[in-house]
Amino acid sequence: MQADEIRRQLEYFRDLGFEQIYRREVAAPVKEAAKPKGEIVLPSMAPADDTLAMISADIGDCRRCRLHAGRNKIVFGSGNESARLVFVGEGPGADEDEQGIPFVGRAGQLLTQMIEGTAKKEGIAITRGDVYICNVVKCRPPENRTPEADEMATCGQFLFRQLSTIQPRAICALGSTAAKALIGGKDGVTKLRGRWHEWNGIPLMVTFHPSYLLRPYNQNAKREAWEDLKAVLHRVY
Ligand code: URA
Repeated sequence: MQADEIRRQLEYFRDLGFEQIYRREVAAPVKEAAKPKGEIVLPSMAPADDTLAMISADIGDCRRCRLHAGRNKIVFGSGNESARLVFVGEGPGADEDEQGIPFVGRAGQLLTQMIEGTAKKEGIAITRGDVYICNVVKCRPPENRTPEADEMATCGQFLFRQLSTIQPRAICALGSTAAKALIGGKDGVTKLRGRWHEWNGIPLMVTFHPSYLLRPYNQNAKREAWEDLKAVLHRVY
């Protein structure tokens, strides 16, 4: 890769908010003998006419990070491809890994209820199918552990392309992993929620992850999440 090409790609990822780029082997490694010493392999840049289908094709049978080893299905994302609103979660759980669809387990059912229940109460005629839902990482982490920084950076390039392609009117980051991937920093959800942030010029709200809301002692957080969602829906619809 030529120096000016490396510069352009690094600028592209800097503009998307990446602070670190990891060097790693390509999926089908170039033969050692043919590989120039010190070659830098960067994540692929989004083509100008990017589409979700192209992003999915680029992901392919991904083996770019260790998470591929334990996955059953890649969970790319689902919903309206021209959605006004995108929800971003952390990563697939067991049910999602099984079905290849995000947020279909218990947390997913709560998310669906939250979207549809809040919309109905607020007189907004949308269902889950009107929004787009995806995750920071597309393969299930072992034992549902939090994705590691290099896994988030590797898979994040595809999340960023999804968001850039959809160009929603707002993004809702569910939980601290999504918040970290999209706005960086170390603050947790309690500090970040309830006000507007931005991802590449797109308004972004952080709220509690539905899995957190499923715990019985988090009643206060439930009310706050409903407030956040109300603000998001009214901004977008
Ligand atoms: N939790 C997530 O963050 N994403 C899913 O898709 C399911 C559960």
